[in-house]
Amino acid sequence: MDVVVIGAGVGGLTTAALLLKAGHQVTVLEAQVYPGGCAGTFYHQGYRFDAGATLAGGFAPAGPHARLAEALGLEWPVRPVDPAWVTHLPDRVVTQWADPAAWRAERQAAFPGTEAFWRRQEHLAGLAWDIASRHFPWPPASLSDGLDLARALRPATLTAAPHLFHTVTDLAGPAGRDPHFRAFLDAQLLIAAQTTAAHAHALYGSAALDLPRRGVNHVRGGMGALAGVLVEWLRAHGGQVLFRQAVTALEVAGGRVRAALTNKGLRVAGDAFLANLTPWGLRQVLGEGAPPSLRREVVRRPATWGAFTLYLGLEAAALPPAAADHQQVIVDLAQPLGEGNSVFMSLSDPDDLGCAPAGHRAATLSTHTAVAPWWEALRADPARYADRRAAYTERLLAAAERALPGLRGAVRLCLPGTPVTFETFTRRPHGMVGGFPQTSLLAARGPATGLPNLWLVGDSVFPGQSTAGVTLGGMRVAAAVLKWAARQFDRTAFWPAQRLRSSGAPTPPATE
Ligand SMILES: Cc1cc2nc3c(=O)[nH]c(=O)nc-3n(C[C@H](O)[C@H](O)[C@H](O)COP(=O)(O)OP(=O)(O)OC[C@H]3O[C@@H](n4cnc5c(N)ncnc54)[C@H](O)[C@@H]3O)c2cc1C
Repeated sequence: MDVVVIGAGVGGLTTAALLLKAGHQVTVLEAQVYPGGCAGTFYHQGYRFDAGATLAGGFAPAGPHARLAEALGLEWPVRPVDPAWVTHLPDRVVTQWADPAAWRAERQAAFPGTEAFWRRQEHLAGLAWDIASRHFPWPPASLSDGLDLARALRPATLTAAPHLFHTVTDLAGPAGRDPHFRAFLDAQLLIAAQTTAAHAHALYGSAALDLPRRGVNHVRGGMGALAGVLVEWLRAHGGQVLFRQAVTALEVAGGRVRAALTNKGLRVAGDAFLANLTPWGLRQVLGEGAPPSLRREVVRRPATWGAFTLYLGLEAAALPPAAADHQQVIVDLAQPLGEGNSVFMSLSDPDDLGCAPAGHRAATLSTHTAVAPWWEALRADPARYADRRAAYTERLLAAAERALPGLRGAVRLCLPGTPVTFETFTRRPHGMVGGFPQTSLLAARGPATGLPNLWLVGDSVFPGQSTAGVTLGGMRVAAAVLKWAARQFDRTAFWPAQRLRSSGAPTPPATE
């Protein structure tokens, strides 16, 4: 097959690599001049800033990135860090150790009376990660997916059954009434499941809460190096990755996608298409060709979160000492999280000269924010938008000072990023990032788009956000595409692409 992938985010590149490895021709079209999207790294005045993602998880044995590396025969430029991060509550500091004994001692000291919860959480997380280590096509789209699911289950998996309709709050029981403990859980789940304990599904939330214990890494050269490794691998194995090629339309005829058209006048024909986009982004490029189910979906779904970010260039000598390179701050327990009341701050590896000039460090700070007010402010009056941006900048710096008092004195460069910035640089409509809140396994979104040779991939598809999440999603989507291709193959005498082309798809050359 000729496979066309729209977008060089981690999800798109992972799927592209697996399909190339399976013997198909792959072309990736990326609008930006660098790969990685929300997990990309951009250069500015000597610093390399992580645009969004800063915590690199999933590299431990059997983790998604480790499995992908094994499948492709590549190495990731990562180094584990312990502690994973430090959480600052108004009245206490909790260090999230990767080391299991240190973490047990820490949580017992920080949150007495919660041990039964942590035992349940670790048990469910173990089950979730175990299922995820096998092919698990969730949500199932066919009878054959159902059979794959049945094969992935083990007797131990059944012990999760009582929690199928539980949230993390249900799992916490009476311990969850302590406002400090609740805020701690909420802050972890907001960054890892896009929702808080009262809404996060117990199984998904347990796996998300396990992130520090499963190991967090520094990526040499910044988070974008992960996508960079995949681009190199694709090119070295005969795949094409074309930058500055924003797909502006998909040509649909006879109920199938036939070609992708770019802003540079390129028309790339193919047999199978993968959209590393949100449903809203896909709706835009499909235009009149959008199937009714996708048109309904983008109207029906509420907006997802956006992010406000600060990129700081810091003078290392002027920085206060930090207990960890990743810090999370919750300012006020009485206020909802996000909007500067919960902030995640990551400092680049002090030894990584690929991220900052000698004697300097790059930092990315982020908070969840509702997207609509930013666009309303911009539309109403650019000055109002600028004021809002300045107020959020101040909020994030003030929160960061709680973790690193005196941080402002080290700031040599300060760049804010709003949902408007995210839309500009990642082309995600309205700057909506992070995928869907993981509230119910039954509401999980799969890769189907309503067109048989077009799939969604990336953090809109279960299991959702994070580089590890979109890698798992990419593996699942690659398997779905291969199954589809095999079905095409079975119905023909010899060669699947031949059948596809004889059904009216354009013939090579793939790029014109
Ligand atoms: C502030 C923030 C902090 C985060 N923190 C973490 C973290 O610490 N750890 C973690 O693991 N995850 C984190 N995440 C989540 C993680 O970054 C994302 O879930 C993941 O990177 C999304 O990958 P994706 O495959 O969906 O693609 P995206 O990152 O959305 O990339 C899509 C790519 O497609 C390109 N594109 C879009 N439209 C077109 C088009 N029409 N034509 C061509 N190209 C197009 C874009 O330019 C982009 O490169 C964070 C996200 C944000 C925003």
